Amino acid sequence: MPFSKLGLSPQIQSALKKSSYITPTPIQEKVIPLVLKYNDIMAMAQTGSGKSASFVLPILELWSKSVGEGKAKIKALVLTPTRELTLQVADAFSTFGADLSRKPKVVSIIGGESIGEQIYAIQQGCDILVATSGRLLDVLSKKQTNLSHLEFFVLDEADKMLNLGFAEELNAILEAIPQKRQNLLFSATYPQKILDIASKITQNPIQVTLEQEVPTVESVIQRATLVNRENRGPLLRHLLDNEKLEQVLVFMANKRATDNIAAKFKKYGYKAESFHGDLLQDERTLTLDEFKAKKIRILFATDIAARGLDISDVSCVINFDLPRSPTDYIHRIGRTARAGKSGMAISFISHEDKAHFSIIEKRCKVNLKREQVDGFELSGEAPIQVKGSEPVKGKGKSKKDKAREKASKEASRE
Ligand code: AMP
Repeated sequence: MPFSKLGLSPQIQSALKKSSYITPTPIQEKVIPLVLKYNDIMAMAQTGSGKSASFVLPILELWSKSVGEGKAKIKALVLTPTRELTLQVADAFSTFGADLSRKPKVVSIIGGESIGEQIYAIQQGCDILVATSGRLLDVLSKKQTNLSHLEFFVLDEADKMLNLGFAEELNAILEAIPQKRQNLLFSATYPQKILDIASKITQNPIQVTLEQEVPTVESVIQRATLVNRENRGPLLRHLLDNEKLEQVLVFMANKRATDNIAAKFKKYGYKAESFHGDLLQDERTLTLDEFKAKKIRILFATDIAARGLDISDVSCVINFDLPRSPTDYIHRIGRTARAGKSGMAISFISHEDKAHFSIIEKRCKVNLKREQVDGFELSGEAPIQVKGSEPVKGKGKSKKDKAREKASKEASRE
């Protein structure tokens, strides 16, 4: 079914065309007509399913039909779990609203940037507000933002908000918005806590699930390459040169490693950058924009930094360091092969990683052939774990020392 059958205006359709959105994804096909009929929605949708456009497009459509002359009033509020997702969603509203006769004024509210500027931006006129909940509450506490005209309330990736002490924040936000509104809830999973939130915010919601949705990772070609740890860098360069890999996301175990290796690769002449939680918001945004614009070819990232990112043009994920858990493995390789594109994931496996990778395979129900690349074959034996001599009582590390060591290790990991 083409977008033209979904009840969207020609202006929105023309903006879709410019972004090369030709056919709706299954979630879009289901959700868009339901939102246009003013239903509350509870959708089960993963990142990569195209869920953002499934609420952005119909909200733009309804908003553009009802928007009057005069100063903009905040009509839609979207809450997301991360700064990056907030910016992506805000960007989608601006992109798909670009051809409307009145373009929506979209403001994003995120931590890490000046709150004064964000409040000023709202006061200059705002139709659509996209925010992370913590910063939104800071903004609301300044008592200069009026949400009383709100008509649409969206929670995007709701299950990712749960760990952030979200319930109280949500209550405070609900107090600031009108009771009568259209509510759209998107979550990849529906544990009890999300069901509780759903019953609190939605009214007779229509539940949308995609029965035959193929998990995104099934379209990822997965490879496992044996290599000695010290040869991983040279092997990566070899693959980049010989397999002509473009837009590569390389996962590393910690922040420092991403910085070091990105610097090395730059020296070798590759367009490489690191991406981790220590970067300032501006740097993160710039790096992502450059990666999307293909000005950066290789992004060295940590798990935490890469979570929730919309970098759908990743053609290859490299597990330079293996993920800690099978869930992280799925999460990482799901960064590629999004929105119907094909993708590849290559895991580097050294002697030390063999057992751990087998566990990941078992839990993910895959069994990958071990490949070796000429010139980079795995050599030597697995290092034997030497047991230290018995600790001498009184000479071992104190509890405090151990706690300090653990904390500093965790801090360097993020
Ligand atoms: P999302 O699940 O909303 O984060 O979308 C994942 C990626 O798919 C984003 O990069 C979107 O720009 C892209 N996308 C979503 N819907 C479509 C579509 N109908 N056609 C082409 N690309 C799409």
